[in-house]
Amino acid sequence: DQIPVRRALISVSDKTGLVELGRALADRGVELLSTGGTARALRDAGLTVKDVSEVTGFPEMMDGRVKTLHPMVHGGLLALRDNADHVAAMEEHGIGAIDLLVVNLYPFEETVAKGADWATCIENIDIGGPAMIRAAAKNHAFVTVVVDVEDYDKLLGDMDQHGGATCPKFRRKLAQKAYARTAAYDAAVSNWMAGALEIEAPRRRAFAGTLAQTLRYGENPHQRAAFYVDGSDRPGVATAVQHQGKELSYNNINDTDAAFELVAEFDPAEGPACAIIKHANPSGVARGKTLVEAYKAAFDCDRTSAFGGIVALNQPLDADTAREITGIFTEVVIAPGATEEAKEIFAAKKNLRLLTTEGLPDPRAGGLAFRQVAGGFLVQDKDNGFVGLDDLKVVTKKAPTEKQMRDLLFAWKVAKHVKSNAIVYVKDQATVGVGAGQMSRVDSALIAAKKAERMAEALGLPQPLTVGSAVASDAFFPFPDGLMEAAGAGATCVIQPGGSMRDDEVIAAADEAGLAMVFTAMRHFRH
Ligand code: 5GP
Repeated sequence: DQIPVRRALISVSDKTGLVELGRALADRGVELLSTGGTARALRDAGLTVKDVSEVTGFPEMMDGRVKTLHPMVHGGLLALRDNADHVAAMEEHGIGAIDLLVVNLYPFEETVAKGADWATCIENIDIGGPAMIRAAAKNHAFVTVVVDVEDYDKLLGDMDQHGGATCPKFRRKLAQKAYARTAAYDAAVSNWMAGALEIEAPRRRAFAGTLAQTLRYGENPHQRAAFYVDGSDRPGVATAVQHQGKELSYNNINDTDAAFELVAEFDPAEGPACAIIKHANPSGVARGKTLVEAYKAAFDCDRTSAFGGIVALNQPLDADTAREITGIFTEVVIAPGATEEAKEIFAAKKNLRLLTTEGLPDPRAGGLAFRQVAGGFLVQDKDNGFVGLDDLKVVTKKAPTEKQMRDLLFAWKVAKHVKSNAIVYVKDQATVGVGAGQMSRVDSALIAAKKAERMAEALGLPQPLTVGSAVASDAFFPFPDGLMEAAGAGATCVIQPGGSMRDDEVIAAADEAGLAMVFTAMRHFRH
């Protein structure tokens, strides 16, 4: 079942490693066939190559649209070598067997990423390449198919181990990878068209990612896991550069993403901000006059939870902030850049992972969000909803002051990134209590207030910082009870979507408690 590699067809757009591979194959006595550009590159390196056009008896034509689409090629890839009829057909038509196919496709994804026009993108849809890949992969019993430059060495290794032949197990694995490639390629074409045709994202029907990294394990050590990327250049955990520290874990990637997406809500032009995340929820978020002040204020919201947390910054990491962060155990820091001095300070903390990006993601940009359920997965637009000052409606007798308004909007931005039910207390542009993930809104309000009390004790404050705070609720208060809990904790103004059947009751309760309340008319559930 080991199939000797005697004749190879190489047709690659990405010529990385091509000459080395061609030479290594030639050294092992393999005859080389190639398409135009590939053949030229191999010949330039002094190798002997036969043109596919010579094999097919047809020139490459129609701007390269038709090069290898011919029975002399596809017969050589698809013929079952142990089938008398197939062998007879090969003999009758003079079709030579092709034992090895090395193809990488026209750079369609890169062409789209560059923002090329419709016609250029269309011309970069590879037709002959996928046809050959699929043919060779189907006939993996006899044919070895390589679609990834990274596999060149493995191919030569397998051949050397088997006296110039490949083994069945290796060919099957390559075939599986080959179909993954053509599937992802067609998904990319379909998604590009969907984008251009303005088909709403959740209805695009084809989804694909590229395996970027296998992870040590998933959410728990008994779960296997991997990180797939979608090729977007959006600044974030997928495109960040890691400067130091161990490899990111599954939970690190998830939490780092949550942290960076949250901090990106805070425009760096309006000043520094910091978010600290634990288990995908913020333990603290704050703005500051300086970055280090923002970090300290975020830390002070919940010092206990911040231990082992993930820190995201909306401005490049500076030395002061770096020094402060190293004061406690932190898993990951992500920022749009870092000064050399800050990097040096971190270098002493070997386990601390530092990630930097080129800027911040745009929180209002579109995108997709997936969730798996038994028997399928749910797809929706990413929550890029935004509420500004002009969208707010004051519903109480009292209107918030300008300062209260700023804290309300701050709390609202944070609440969007807190698991429901979310209650967020904010004072002076810093969270002072975050209640997350409770089945009852009243409990979220209570828990956040309790945590603020505990922090007041730890910091030696006369009263919890929830006193005189602004409070946000990610969804409407169905009854006045949750609101009253927040008022009891000392909140003086409230932001919430509104829209409950009992809005009147809730508003009356707010008026009675002397609260100022605004409605957003937008909900931010997050589960
Ligand atoms: P070369 O640089 O060798 O001229 O072209 C290599 C590229 O052509 C590869 O990416 C390969 O997938 C692609 N290719 C091979 N045969 C065909 C064909 O018949 N039609 C099209 N459109 N592309 C092909």
